[in-house]
Amino acid sequence: MRQIGSNLYALKQLILKSGRERSILNRHPWIFSGAVKTLPKAENGDIVSVHTNHGELLGFGFFSPNSQITCRLFEFGSDQIELDENYWKSKLKNAFALRKLLITAQTDCYRLLHAEGDFFPGIITDIYGEVAVIQLLIKGTERISPIIFEGLKELGFKYIYVKTKQSTQLLEQVEEGSRWIGETCPMPIVVKEYGVLFSVNVETGQKTGFFLDQRENRKLVGAWSDGKNVLNTFSYSGGFSLYALEAGAALVHSVDSSKDAIGLCEDNVALGKWKGKHESFIEDCFEFLKKAPTDFYDIIILDPPAFAKNARSVDNAARGYKNLNILGLDRVKKGGLVFTYSCSQHIDKDLFRKIVFSAAAETRRNVRILRQLSQPDDHPINIYHPEGEYLKGLMLYVD
Ligand code: SAH
Repeated sequence: MRQIGSNLYALKQLILKSGRERSILNRHPWIFSGAVKTLPKAENGDIVSVHTNHGELLGFGFFSPNSQITCRLFEFGSDQIELDENYWKSKLKNAFALRKLLITAQTDCYRLLHAEGDFFPGIITDIYGEVAVIQLLIKGTERISPIIFEGLKELGFKYIYVKTKQSTQLLEQVEEGSRWIGETCPMPIVVKEYGVLFSVNVETGQKTGFFLDQRENRKLVGAWSDGKNVLNTFSYSGGFSLYALEAGAALVHSVDSSKDAIGLCEDNVALGKWKGKHESFIEDCFEFLKKAPTDFYDIIILDPPAFAKNARSVDNAARGYKNLNILGLDRVKKGGLVFTYSCSQHIDKDLFRKIVFSAAAETRRNVRILRQLSQPDDHPINIYHPEGEYLKGLMLYVD
């Protein structure tokens, strides 16, 4: 069963309603159920061909009849193409070629496949040294996964771990479905990011094991941390904390409500010899900030989990971000910095900036934006899929 969908004419057809082809012609990869005139007689995960109301071919996608997004396109245009093993492997090779340009010798953990950002919806692959961790987000990518595994091996990755979506909560029992393909790599492993060492457990950690998307933002925090008192809220395994310590911070406080996350953070702090002092707290960050003094922290980092998991929760999430930013902006020392982030896909950068604006206004302090921050280059944003720009941040100077 290697020749997946190789015969164009054997594919079931998804026909769009009249006039609903515009976004597909603009290479937006998602088809919502409301745009579909005729559903293909296909199963969840099948590859289907997508057509206009007049039958013209628009591209190919993974069919997901049970999802709000009925089909995710991975190929556009009206050409007949072979969707064979080489087709999928060349997507991997293209992604790898880009990463080779971006990743330096000081870093051996990065995102190799960023779903729509690499024209490959429904799959994420993160690299930790010799280990590739794959998240299969839809049935369609699960079906072709044997080809991906083979392609990753051919690129030189020795170990492959598949992490199912359900098992990505922090240290939850790994569900059936999460597994090593072939050889098992003993966990945890130590990886380096800009030369900073981190211990990562891909089996039990959050997401694929580490939040690779904050790499550049952690480096930026490091650049400002020398001699400073730094508060890292929502610290997880201490990503920002380690960069601050490495850069010579006088003191770093890491706060996370998860005991396991703080355990990882302490393990990571122990990997290095730092001049500065580090202390961690298993506590709710809102509560911690409420008690925090206003004349102590030079730098406060606010990097919460996605408060808006879907479009319906945007209002509540906005309130959460506002309250958090009020606390951060209020507690930072005069002349200090607040690094504030949102990784909610449903809160775009304009809305996030408005939320932070209204938080700043409540504190009645002078707040200036020094930098507008985003996700790193190995998490590319497909220009036709603006939803892929999920991480946004602001570096704020507070008088
Ligand atoms: N900044 C981190 C990633 C943060 S992920 C890095 O660079 O790696 C978000 C973290 O917030 C998780 O570890 C989660 O346990 C923690 N968390 C979620 N809600 C929280 C709360 N109310 N108070 C404290 N920590 C919380």
